Amino acid sequence: MLSLAQMLGNVSQAHVQSPDDWALSVTDVLRDAAIYHQARNGFYRAQCDALGVDPAAINDINDLQDLPLLPVGMFKRPDAQVLLTCSLADVETETQSSGTHGVQSVARRNSETMTRALVGLIGTYREFFNLSGGAGLFLNPTDAEASEMGLLKDFNILNSVFDHHAYLVADQAFDARAALEHLSRWKGHMTRHIIGPPFLIGRLLRFLEQERITMRLDPYSMIITLGGWKRHTADAIPAEDFRQRCHDLLAVRPGNVRDMYGMIESNMLAVECHLHRKHVPPWCYISIRDPGQVGKELAPGGSGTIAILDALNTSYPGFLLTDDVGDVETGTCGCGRTGQVINFRGRGQGGGLGNCPVSIERYLDSRTAANDEAPALVKA
Ligand SMILES: [Zn+2]
Repeated sequence: MLSLAQMLGNVSQAHVQSPDDWALSVTDVLRDAAIYHQARNGFYRAQCDALGVDPAAINDINDLQDLPLLPVGMFKRPDAQVLLTCSLADVETETQSSGTHGVQSVARRNSETMTRALVGLIGTYREFFNLSGGAGLFLNPTDAEASEMGLLKDFNILNSVFDHHAYLVADQAFDARAALEHLSRWKGHMTRHIIGPPFLIGRLLRFLEQERITMRLDPYSMIITLGGWKRHTADAIPAEDFRQRCHDLLAVRPGNVRDMYGMIESNMLAVECHLHRKHVPPWCYISIRDPGQVGKELAPGGSGTIAILDALNTSYPGFLLTDDVGDVETGTCGCGRTGQVINFRGRGQGGGLGNCPVSIERYLDSRTAANDEAPALVKA
């Protein structure tokens, strides 16, 4: 069984625990995280009390589904600081997303969470991509779209493994020629990689096709994507076709075209192995919920609302009910890694429909009432 520090210190080892050890380890780190937040976060404690859940009583992986979840829609509220376990003064970064419906979501992280997330991401990238050196061409969307996808930070950290890089910030007038110039310049000097959301890489592929340009990247070149097609759904193609096009037009092996899944409110980033299965980090657990009854975990194999339990976060409870839909598989992947594999099926409607047992309003009201009563008690 591995502690959180051991997992972060050796991400590769954490991905090949025996299935039994994986279950014990992930249960242990998530129980500790829940105990931490319950002790320090009044709002989370109120949820535990309302559900009659004692995090200390969790002793089996099947107990994890009992933990209260925070619907991601709550991060859009102006009073979202209620969700914090750390103090506002300890917040190091505030990541904002415009959200698909225009209301900003704010994820606040303290320095401990940032350090853990950075270490976890670098370990994950090195585990799955085996990258050391080379040149990365980053096709970044404009700020508006990048913040919506919350991907710039994740991409910037990926940059740390390359010897050289170029950023292309692209909007509607994506400059495919500039992208090709960078790739041509690096030819013969460094292994070339392309990183970006699928819709921008899709535009580069269309440009190559329309201009009948042949660009052969290198034997170990990778194409790494995150963020989906977003509002460019008209251009969306199935993942297998996308990989085939990357192979046909850029000579990148389909096994080296890798997608990732994550969201701004969570530290969880699931990365594809060469078999295109998105592995959940060993410090996270995915629970699939019945959309009509989100308190209930679906039986294995069922497709429903994705809940993410993350042990890294000390700034707020990393136990989130997302708006996304998907399913999860548990066991040993053909690549040899154990744990969970997540199949993302689609973004939900973004309504943040899930509710906590105790709403923010009710929690704040109860605290105000308690404060109002306090002087009377002192007088008595
Ligand atoms: Zn795998």
